[in-house]
Amino acid sequence: MIKTDVVIIGAGPTGLFCAHQLGIIGLKCEIVDNLDKIGGQCIELYPDKPIYDIPAVPKCTGEELTNNLIEQIKPFNFNFHLSDRVQELKNENNKWLVKTLNGKEFETFNIVIAGGVGSFEPRKFPTKSAEKYDGKSVLYSIKDKNIFKDKSVVIFGGGDSALDWAIELSNSSKVTLVHRRDEFRGAPASVQKIKELSDNKTIDLITKYSIKDDGFW
Ligand SMILES: Cc1cc2nc3c(=O)[nH]c(=O)nc-3n(C[C@H](O)[C@H](O)[C@H](O)COP(=O)(O)OP(=O)(O)OC[C@H]3O[C@@H](n4cnc5c(N)ncnc54)[C@H](O)[C@@H]3O)c2cc1C
Repeated sequence: MIKTDVVIIGAGPTGLFCAHQLGIIGLKCEIVDNLDKIGGQCIELYPDKPIYDIPAVPKCTGEELTNNLIEQIKPFNFNFHLSDRVQELKNENNKWLVKTLNGKEFETFNIVIAGGVGSFEPRKFPTKSAEKYDGKSVLYSIKDKNIFKDKSVVIFGGGDSALDWAIELSNSSKVTLVHRRDEFRGAPASVQKIKELSDNKTIDLITKYSIKDDGFW
């Protein structure tokens, strides 16, 4: 049984910065994450993508943000429990008992749930024929953007991830962006930028199309 002031569930940016704030007021934290590494979505899904909306940091990648957050909490020497998932929370006599999938147990007065979108899995293409390219030429996250340099890349989606990557990769690849609607869910500035890139023919924009086994429909 590990006794601590706070158990933080999730080692994404929220969990890491919480740990910093808790360390500053003198509390001891144990941090549990289902992933095998620290950093949440930033490190797992877009280590190489630039981020532009961190206060006082004009530009950094997902990996740089993670490394800076790790550096910031180093003085506190908090323990990380990676590749383990919190499965059970129980309140007994004003204390929390936290159990993980791998059988670890924590006794704590406080829990921070910083689980983000949860233990995330990509929403994969529904088409059967895409399966055999999974992890080869069909990718659901980008670890190293250099693999697309001077290549043709087709990006499916209309949210922030799709728009951010379309904008970024258009600097060094031939990008086609395909979305099933003609409206986008991304940040207005990104939507505007995509329209500009499409108008000046830097990217190909194909809307109201989706993927099926033998092509777009
Ligand atoms: C492709 C992409 C690009 C993005 N670009 C930007 C951007 O430019 N700017 C921006 O501000 N935001 C961006 N975002 C969003 C940003 O990454 C998220 O808002 C941010 O990661 C949320 O941080 P978080 O710590 O709350 O959650 P997450 O990063 O989701 O981390 C939560 C962590 O909790 C863990 N977890 C969940 N449940 C459990 C459990 N039961 N037990 C153990 N561990 C658990 C998960 O494994 C995960 O590591 C982007 C997202 C994506 C996908």
